[in-house]
Amino acid sequence: TYSLKTDLRLAASGIILNQDLTEDFDWLGIDRFTLEIVLRREFCLKFSNQVEWKCNSRVTELIVDRSLNIVKGVKYRSKKNTGSPLLEIYGDFIIDCTGHNTSSPKWLKEKFNLIVPTIQIHYGCGYVTCIGERFRTGDPSLDSVAVIGSSVNSPENNFGFIVTPMRTIDTTDHDSLGILATLAINCVNSEYPPNDSYENLLEWAKENLDQEYYAVLKSIKVCSPLLPYRRAVDARKYVETLGKKWPQNYILLGDAICALNPQYAQGMTHALRHARELGKIFGESCHMLKDISHIFNRRAAVVTEECWFASTANDWKTPTLKVIETHKNGEVKTYQR
Ligand SMILES: Cc1cc2nc3c(=O)[nH]c(=O)nc-3n(C[C@H](O)[C@H](O)[C@H](O)COP(=O)(O)OP(=O)(O)OC[C@H]3O[C@@H](n4cnc5c(N)ncnc54)[C@H](O)[C@@H]3O)c2cc1C
Repeated sequence: TYSLKTDLRLAASGIILNQDLTEDFDWLGIDRFTLEIVLRREFCLKFSNQVEWKCNSRVTELIVDRSLNIVKGVKYRSKKNTGSPLLEIYGDFIIDCTGHNTSSPKWLKEKFNLIVPTIQIHYGCGYVTCIGERFRTGDPSLDSVAVIGSSVNSPENNFGFIVTPMRTIDTTDHDSLGILATLAINCVNSEYPPNDSYENLLEWAKENLDQEYYAVLKSIKVCSPLLPYRRAVDARKYVETLGKKWPQNYILLGDAICALNPQYAQGMTHALRHARELGKIFGESCHMLKDISHIFNRRAAVVTEECWFASTANDWKTPTLKVIETHKNGEVKTYQR
C-alpha cells in the first residue's frame, strides 16, 4: 500500500489534490488477478470446509416462490458446455455480485414482474491501458512518487492519466524505478486516444496531455498490448426505492447495484463497503432473515450515494452527455445533450 499523502501525486486542472489532506489513506497498488487470488485464499483459509467453488459456470435464471416474494436459488450451467442441462442450487441468502452487466433486472421482471428503476449516464468514456516498467524521467517530483494521476475536467480537459504500481520488481538497471505499473489514459466525450501503436499513443500524448504525463509515458517500457475499453458508464439501480416489493433473501452487491466512473477508482471500495455492511447486518443478530435484503438495500444505498455523487459530479458536464432513465412503471426516457 502507498500513502495517499506522500506516495501519490494526484491532480485536477493542474492543481495537486492530495498533499493537503487532513487524514492519510492507503492506496492499494495491485492488479485485479492477484487481488482475486489473495481474496480467494483468505476466504478459503477462513471457511475452508464451508466453501464449494463452482467455476466456469453461468447463472441463467432465478428459482423463486412468487407468492412468498422469495428467491430460493439459481439455475446455472457450465460455460464450457453450453448445451448441457441446467443445474439448480439453493441457498438461504443469495447475493448477485455479477457486475454491471447483471441480468437481475431481466430476471426480476420475468419472475416477479418487478421493474428496477435505473439511471445510466453515458459520458463517452474510453480507456487505453497497458502494463510497463517505470524508468526515471529525470524529474524528482515524478520519480519519487508511486502513483501519478490527473483527472478529466470536461469540457476544458477531456483526458485523464494514471500510472499506478502493480508490484515491485528486482532490477540491476539504475534507471529503472523497480516498479511494474499499470498505465491508463482515459477520455470522456468519446475523444478516444489511439491504441494501434505505442508510437501513435506517444505522439497523441505529446499534443493532448500535460508535458509531465507525456514524460512519464515516454519513460515507461511497455510490456503488454495497448488495451482499449469503451464500455464504462455510470449505471445505478435504485433498488432501495422498491421497499418490500424487493424479494426476500436476495440482494445485488457492488457493480451489480451501481457501476461508477472508473476514473475515481472507487469500484472496489464501493463493493467492499457493501460487503462490510452486509456482514454488519448479519452480525447484529437481531434481524429476521426475511428482512435482511430490505435493510441491506437501504444501507447500501447510502454507500452508493456517496460514491455516485463523487463519480458523477463531473460527468454531467460532458458536452455529448446521454442519460437513460428507466422508471418504476417501465417507462424509459433518453436524454441526449
Ligand atoms: C477500465 C476500468 C478501470 C477500473 N479501475 C479501477 C480501480 O483502479 N480501482 C477500483 O477500485 N475499481 C476500478 N474499476 C472498477 C472495478 O473493476 C469494479 O468496481 C469491480 O470489479 C466491481 O466488482 P464486482 O465484484 O461487483 O463485479 P465484477 O468485478 O465485474 O465481477 C463480476 C463477476 O461475475 C461474473 N459473472 C457475470 N455474470 C455472471 C453470471 N450470469 N453467472 C456467473 N458469474 C457471472 C463475471 O465473470 C465476473 O467475474 C475499474 C473498472 C474499469 C472498467
